Amino acid sequence: SREIQLAARPQGEPKNSDFALVERELGQPGAGEVLVRNLYLTVDPYMRGRMNDVKSYTPPFALNETMTGGAVGEVVASGADGLSVGDLVLHDRGWRTHALMPAQAARKLDIQPGVSPSAYLGILGMPGLTAYAGLLEVAAFKPGDVVFVSGAAGAVGSAVGQIARLKGAGRVIGSAGSSEKVAHLTGVLGFDAAFNYKDAPVLQQLRKAAPDGIDVYFDNVGGDHLEAALSVFNPFGRAALCGAISQYNAAQPPSGPRNLALAVGKQLTLKGFIVSSYSHLFAAFVQEVSGWIASGELHHDETVIEGIENTPGAFMGLLNGQNTGKMVVRL
Ligand code: NDP
Repeated sequence: SREIQLAARPQGEPKNSDFALVERELGQPGAGEVLVRNLYLTVDPYMRGRMNDVKSYTPPFALNETMTGGAVGEVVASGADGLSVGDLVLHDRGWRTHALMPAQAARKLDIQPGVSPSAYLGILGMPGLTAYAGLLEVAAFKPGDVVFVSGAAGAVGSAVGQIARLKGAGRVIGSAGSSEKVAHLTGVLGFDAAFNYKDAPVLQQLRKAAPDGIDVYFDNVGGDHLEAALSVFNPFGRAALCGAISQYNAAQPPSGPRNLALAVGKQLTLKGFIVSSYSHLFAAFVQEVSGWIASGELHHDETVIEGIENTPGAFMGLLNGQNTGKMVVRL
């Protein structure tokens, strides 16, 4: 197996020398084990936090050990009942070409016709459920709401905006980091308005895009985006606090939002969440989102990087906005 290890803890932005490519011999599967050849790996923003040596909701990655993360692969040898050669499985032994593991740690996939196996790392997987649960349950979305989502061209954000549209939002507004992404949001994904947060202050652009205020803010970015949303919220507005990617590489804590006290007078609800607490919604999520994919009403983009050796580059590219939709690595 060719595998990527964490060679050093990144200081600020990760760089190539923080990662190392190693080769390892794997044996044949014993009883209850399978050997999986990975087809697609995911890189996700939460992995940046796990590269630091601090306590979080997931423990830090160990130095000089192979990284982990979601992957879809094909069983190439099996010592387990229930999984056979040729089965496609979803598991968490990513960042490597092959994985020898307990069959219990792999979930067999029945690939929906017309979707790539990589969809189970994105729209039909963890990021898709994050969008669905965050919008519908955490932010308690209701038809007619004006919804603002940051990181709107990414895996989670693009699903949030489209689910809001499909569920009858009054208006859907997104922010992203390039003019191409902004054009994609309004042109292809059906957002009512979008802006490039690098063009002008977020507050100024959000006010223009949401002349009647916002009712829901789905926060992927934190910082200036959260501060702007607080200012533009209507009374009883609700924010799902999903991520704060503007701060993941920061060495210093952020200075804002400076206007948090607005939450009192406007009677806002600001609720943080972690997707793993919402597995009770998984079946409903798969059913509803699969239907929208099949009918062509929900669009899901992927940015595909080739080769295990380019996995660190894919991860660094993700943090720099090189992806539209889900960033995945194909092996
Ligand atoms: P994305 O596909 O959205 O990729 C990350 C994007 O973040 C980039 O494409 C880039 O787009 C944007 N970005 C990077 N730096 C900045 C910045 N300084 N300001 C604004 N945008 C920036 O990733 P995901 O969809 O996987 O994740 C989106 C968010 O959701 C993250 O915050 C992640 O941590 C969070 N998350 C939380 C979960 C939970 O359980 N709470 C589960 C899954 C994800 P651009 O070009 O627009 O800048």
